[in-house]
Amino acid sequence: MSSIHHHCGLFGIANHPAAAELTYLGLYAQQHRGQESAGICSSNGGTLTRRGGLGLVTDAISQRDLEELRNPLAIGHVRYSTTGSCSESNTQPLLVTCSIGQVAICHNGNLVNAGVMRREFEQHGHIFVTTSDTEVILHMLADKRFTEKPDPLAAVLRHLCGSYCLLIQYPDRLEAVRDPSGNRPLCLGRLDEAWIVASETCALDIVDAEYVRDVDPGEIVTLSESGLSSRRFVEEGVVRRAHCIFEHIYFADPSSQIFGDNVHLVRMEMGRALAREAPADGDLVVPVPNCARCAALGYHEASGIQIGRGFTTNHYIGRSFIQPTQSIRDLTVRLKLNPIRGSIEGKRLVVVEDSVVRGTTTRGKMRSLRTAGAKEIHLRVASPPIRHPCYYGIDFPSREELIANGRTVAQIREYLGVDSLEYLSLDGMLAAAKTAHEDFCHACFTGDYPIPIDPTFQKDLFERRQLRFFDAVGIRPHSPNSAANS
Ligand code: SF4
Repeated sequence: MSSIHHHCGLFGIANHPAAAELTYLGLYAQQHRGQESAGICSSNGGTLTRRGGLGLVTDAISQRDLEELRNPLAIGHVRYSTTGSCSESNTQPLLVTCSIGQVAICHNGNLVNAGVMRREFEQHGHIFVTTSDTEVILHMLADKRFTEKPDPLAAVLRHLCGSYCLLIQYPDRLEAVRDPSGNRPLCLGRLDEAWIVASETCALDIVDAEYVRDVDPGEIVTLSESGLSSRRFVEEGVVRRAHCIFEHIYFADPSSQIFGDNVHLVRMEMGRALAREAPADGDLVVPVPNCARCAALGYHEASGIQIGRGFTTNHYIGRSFIQPTQSIRDLTVRLKLNPIRGSIEGKRLVVVEDSVVRGTTTRGKMRSLRTAGAKEIHLRVASPPIRHPCYYGIDFPSREELIANGRTVAQIREYLGVDSLEYLSLDGMLAAAKTAHEDFCHACFTGDYPIPIDPTFQKDLFERRQLRFFDAVGIRPHSPNSAANS
């Protein structure tokens, strides 16, 4: 599945002489979480310095930037804006100088009440320089209503609604925050005397840091030269946990430990469960690269059907998020994956996909397998049908564009052009994640939204998606109230 994108990846480190270089590596390890822009902000104890720009980490940050950022405290961010504009000004970390001094911030997630708060500030004369919802948090941090509280950050956080992991940097410290539902992952690691915080543990691995624990939902962790301290801004158990199950299905790196489980093992287990629930008569299990590989291995293990490669992957194609027309999307599918005729010709294939969103890319892949001589195609999907949009930061298309919206499995099978189609059940999917299976958000499958959605937010989201489309095709409509996701 390649038609949705993740939001962002975070990395922060305190008390290390090569903080910026390690942040660069940590972002590099999390490049799969966002490829539109990257940035690093570091502190020498008195002043914050920020570098970054559009593109991959290697495009956005140069060797010279790293030299200028050489300080003991740093935070960094890779970004994919789900619905708003992809512009230089939205590159994070955002750095401002305000009534409380210099502050930098980066964000993974989506605030569902950002539009309302932004309009409130704008009515009071505040000027916003980005279209990112994250900027609202900076305005709140500088607002007298919060600065006068005993713990201003905790007071601000109690006003936020939605999905957020935040890194907030001041000249002398960084504060790492995870929302009370724990929607996105955030982990803590240790490297000698330094403390590290990152979206995924794969970023700790790359810098040789030891994984210590996850940041708790509703917790603020402060990292500085003097070590680590922790406090809560919401009591434990007050808010329902809602980890995004899509981290396990698709987003996170297979090597990462997310919500208590290893991603690769969870995907394998989803594949095994799929084989038990939806057996198929086939000669060869074929994973759809790259994310379905682990689930296909599980399917192969549980079914005893031989596994093999059905496609070659072209690694040299750049990210192609600007795909305004269907014909271009179809072309990209063919460019990325080429079927291996010698491996699949005359065979009954059991093709394993991690998920199906619009169905257009999957249909393209199935067509190319058929053209290359597959005798039968039995498509098995390692997650349930996606029927509802995500409001928490994942770039699903609108409800109308979801292939499973208002269609039966038989109708989807016909559209995709396969001989049989079966999905993993909700219970089968959730049970695959052993540690947190009762604590997941599954709203895109069930419509059961664990974090309340303000109706005005749905309108905002629609406007922002329009804005993103116009950005992609190079038109800039007048859209004063649009705020992009971070
Ligand atoms: Fe993740 Fe789906 Fe929930 Fe969005 S709606 S947070 S994609 S599980």
